[in-house]
Amino acid sequence: MDLFYKKCKANKLKITPQRVAIYKVLTASSAHPNAEQIHREVKKQFPNISIDTVNRTLLTFAGARMIDVVEGHGDPRRFDSNQKAHHHFYCVSCHKIFDFEADLLERLTLPPDMEKNFLITGKRICLTGYCDKCRSKSAEETE
Ligand SMILES: [Zn+2]
Ligand SMILES: [Zn+2]
Repeated sequence: MDLFYKKCKANKLKITPQRVAIYKVLTASSAHPNAEQIHREVKKQFPNISIDTVNRTLLTFAGARMIDVVEGHGDPRRFDSNQKAHHHFYCVSCHKIFDFEADLLERLTLPPDMEKNFLITGKRICLTGYCDKCRSKSAEETE
């Protein structure tokens, strides 16, 4: 939570109990939840908070680079509080996103035009496939 307060200060964000609650719910989860799932948790504490407020707050956090927005692969966008350099594995069956760390990108050469045409601010590899659970489930079904 220290990081939260530090980043709020650095970005001149007002610290409200609601904002603290939203951040806490997100950091407590490694599942890369979407705004709706975060809203459901935060509502237990603040029954009147709207999904809109939750969504806006998350985007504010993302704008301040306190959290990451993760593409939802056609699902609603998801959020990630893991600020360590990491990559993702997305299960196409249960839609879970798993973090993994590897220095894959150190070994990957980008096309030279990339550095010329774009200012790259993040590098993340997203692998897709079936997680362990879903893999064994689909194996059962085909047997
Ligand atoms: Zn799965
Ligand atoms: Zn992640």
